[in-house]
Amino acid sequence: MKPDTNEKIKVIDLRENLPLPRPIPPVECKCGCGYTFQPRRRDQVYLNKQHADFGYNHNTRKTKYRNRRKAEKILWSNDKALGKHYKNREGNCATCILDALKADGLDLAYVTGTDERDGKKYYYLYNYYYHIYVSNNIKMIKIYKR
Ligand SMILES: [Zn+2]
Repeated sequence: MKPDTNEKIKVIDLRENLPLPRPIPPVECKCGCGYTFQPRRRDQVYLNKQHADFGYNHNTRKTKYRNRRKAEKILWSNDKALGKHYKNREGNCATCILDALKADGLDLAYVTGTDERDGKKYYYLYNYYYHIYVSNNIKMIKIYKR
């Protein structure tokens, strides 16, 4: 018997009964342009191909965060170096030769803040702060806890 090709077969679409997929939230384009867009797929991270190419070639956003991470790393390492020497304190502060701190990684270019009291300049890190002075032609550092 010749099959009736015109006969319509009812296909049950199981998807009809499934809950609607949750909408994909808008995302910020990864190229660093600052645009927020509605992605068509969950793995779409760039607005379009031009932005993807730009992001791949320039990595602007990564550079921005890399500098920030680098600065934070140095600040924490400075704080750690101060803490190490603060342990040997006598009284409320530790007095050391500045070069010893530098040998332990203190980078004078990175501080979270400065202050001036009684004509002395203080440099702040997260948990410690310090004051530098010269004694017998040797640069000394006094370390305090915040
Ligand atoms: Zn973009």
